[in-house]
Amino acid sequence: MHPALAAAAEAVRRDLPPAHAPLLDPAVEQRAWWLAQWEDGAELVLGLLAQDVQEAVHAVDPDWPACTESSCPAREAHALFVEPDLGPDPFWTCHRTGLPVAPVGGLHP
Ligand SMILES: [Zn+2]
Repeated sequence: MHPALAAAAEAVRRDLPPAHAPLLDPAVEQRAWWLAQWEDGAELVLGLLAQDVQEAVHAVDPDWPACTESSCPAREAHALFVEPDLGPDPFWTCHRTGLPVAPVGGLHP
């Protein structure tokens, strides 16, 4: 496996509740194919994999991962989203306040 994808899978696994862990492998497989087509995409793969997995989780849990930003008026009541949606160094971000909450892979320090 491409080292960037292996690192991304490890990071997303840290953020993911154990109950949703089975959703990771199919997403990693899809991104392995994508990365094989476009090697330059390596720096984007962490943010993309997190979004792929979030989309899969949202089929069963639309609020994952719950916002924990202390200044947010809707804390614990909405999902964080990955910013930037296409770029390196992605963060789980509260879109109500616009504040980054944790890097992808760092939700549970
Ligand atoms: Zn929020």
